[in-house]
Amino acid sequence: MIPSPRLHRGLVLALLALGLSAAGAGAQDPAGPYDLLLRGGTVVDGSGAPRFRADVAIRGDRIARVAPGGIPASEARVVLDVEGLVVAPGFVDNHAHIQTTIHEHPLAENFLRQGITTILASLHSGEQPHPLRDYMAALRVAPNVGFFAGHSWARQAVLGLENRAPEPAELERMKALVEEAMRDGALGLATGLVYVPANFAATEEVIELARVAARHGGIYVSHMRDEATGLLDSVRELIRISREAGLPAQINHHKAVGAGQWGWSERTLAMIDSARAEGLDIKHDLYPYTASSTGSGVLFPQWALAGGRDAFRERAADPATRARIRAEVRRILMEERGGGDLSRVQFRVLASDPRYNGRTLADLAADRGLPNDLDAGADLIIDLQLQGGFSAIYHAMDEADVIRIMRHPWAMFETDGDPVPYGVGFPHPRSYGAFPRVLARYVREQGVITLEEAVRKMTSMPMEQVGQRERGVVREGMFADLVVFDPETIEDRATYTDPHQYAVGVRHLLVNGVPVIQGSSFTGERPGRVLRGPARPDRVAGEDRPRG
Ligand SMILES: [Zn+2]
Repeated sequence: MIPSPRLHRGLVLALLALGLSAAGAGAQDPAGPYDLLLRGGTVVDGSGAPRFRADVAIRGDRIARVAPGGIPASEARVVLDVEGLVVAPGFVDNHAHIQTTIHEHPLAENFLRQGITTILASLHSGEQPHPLRDYMAALRVAPNVGFFAGHSWARQAVLGLENRAPEPAELERMKALVEEAMRDGALGLATGLVYVPANFAATEEVIELARVAARHGGIYVSHMRDEATGLLDSVRELIRISREAGLPAQINHHKAVGAGQWGWSERTLAMIDSARAEGLDIKHDLYPYTASSTGSGVLFPQWALAGGRDAFRERAADPATRARIRAEVRRILMEERGGGDLSRVQFRVLASDPRYNGRTLADLAADRGLPNDLDAGADLIIDLQLQGGFSAIYHAMDEADVIRIMRHPWAMFETDGDPVPYGVGFPHPRSYGAFPRVLARYVREQGVITLEEAVRKMTSMPMEQVGQRERGVVREGMFADLVVFDPETIEDRATYTDPHQYAVGVRHLLVNGVPVIQGSSFTGERPGRVLRGPARPDRVAGEDRPRG
C-alpha cells in the first residue's frame, strides 16, 4: 500500500509545525525517495539480538532499509529525528477483550499508547463475531487485529447454557462452527474453561474442537479451568489437549492466584518444560500485575449467594448457616485470595460507604477496632455483602511468581485489557499500562529481563506463534509496524485507584508504515489489517492450502 498524498501532506505539515525536517527532493535510491526515515535511533530488532545504532527507512507499508551506516535526510520525504530513542517492532498483545467491540473503538487509544500495534482477540467468554469473514472485512481500525474461533460461543450456539455433554450430532454442529471460523481466517481455538457454559465441557469435547483447529493450521489458547487451587490440574489439561489434538497450546494470563498457590509457578513452568522436552509446543503469556479485579461474590461459595439477596439474607440470619458461610469465606480469603492480610482486598466501589473506595479491608477493620486477620475479615465481608456487596481489586498474586513466569524463555505478554473510553468506568490499570510497565518496572528498575529479551517476547515470539512471518522484526522487507520509545521514561501511569491515565514514553507508532502516533499525538489514521491464519501453514491438512 502506498500512503495517500493527503496523508503525506498532513505529515509534512505536522512535521513542519513540530519544527522537524521534511526533505522533498534529491533521492538517490532508484525506487525514489523513502516515504519516512527514522534517523539516529537505537534499533532493538525484536530477534533478541543486542541493540545497534541504525537509520530505518520506510516505503509504503514495508521497512525498505535498515542502515547502520546512516541514510542521508535528503533521501526521504519525511524525516523523524529519533536520536536517543529505541526503534523496535510494534508490540503484540496476546489477549484483550476486543473481539466484538474493536469496531466501536477503532483507534484503540489505550493500546496504542502502550506501543501495541497488533491485538489478538483470543476470546475466553462472550460472543465470537459471526460470520467472522464479514466482521473482518468491515473493520477499519488503527491496530492490526487477529481473531480466534470461540469454544464458549460455539457451545452456547448449539447447547445454550445447558450443563451436559453434547450429543454426537450437536458436537458435529459445534465442530462445523469452529471449521467455519478457521476457514474465515481464525488463528486457532480459544477457550475460557472457567466460565459458564465452557466449564460444563469435558476435556474430550475441547480436544474434538481443537482437532478441527489443528487441521486448519491453528493453535490453541486458553483461560484455564482453574488458576487457583486447581492450577496444576489445569496446566495438565492444557498439555493433554495439545498432545491429543496435535497443535501448539498457549496459556493466557499464566498466574498462581491465592496465597495457598504462591510459588506454584515453579511447578507449572517445570510442567511446561517437560512437555516441551516431549516435543509439544507449549507457550504462555502474562500481564505484569499482582492483582485481579472483580466483585465481592467471588469471596462466597456459590450456594451461599444462590437465589439472590433475600435468600442470602435469610441464610446469614441463621446462626448455623452463617457459621458455615463464615468458614467458607475464611477459606476462600486464605487459599484463593490474599491470605490472612486484609490489606490485599482493596475496595474499588463500596456503595454502602464510598469513603472507603480505594482503601482496603484492613483499613476498615482498623477503623472498627478489629484485628487484621481472617476471622475479622470474614465477618466484615458478610456484613458488607448484606449491605449490597462491593467491587474490589484482589492483590492475590505474589510478585515472585510474576517475575518467575516473565523470565521463562517461552513467556510472552498480554494486557487482558478492554478498549477503554478515556475517563469512563473503573478499568483495571492493565488496560492502559501493561506493556510500558514491563519496560519500566521489570526491565529498567528491577532488571528482571533485558530490554532485548522483553522486546523479543513482545514482538517476534508472538508473531511467530500466529504465523506472521513478515512481522515482528525490524528487518528490510518486513511490514513497517514500528514503535519508537524513550527507554529512560517509558512508564505506565494508570493505578488501581486512578486508572484513567495513558502510559508515557511512546513517541511514534507506525502500523503498516502509517503513523498512528506521531510526536506523542494520535494521528487518527486507521491503517490496521486483519492478520489471518493459518498460524501454522505447514500443518494445514488436505486441500485447504495457506492463503496468500
Ligand atoms: Zn481470561
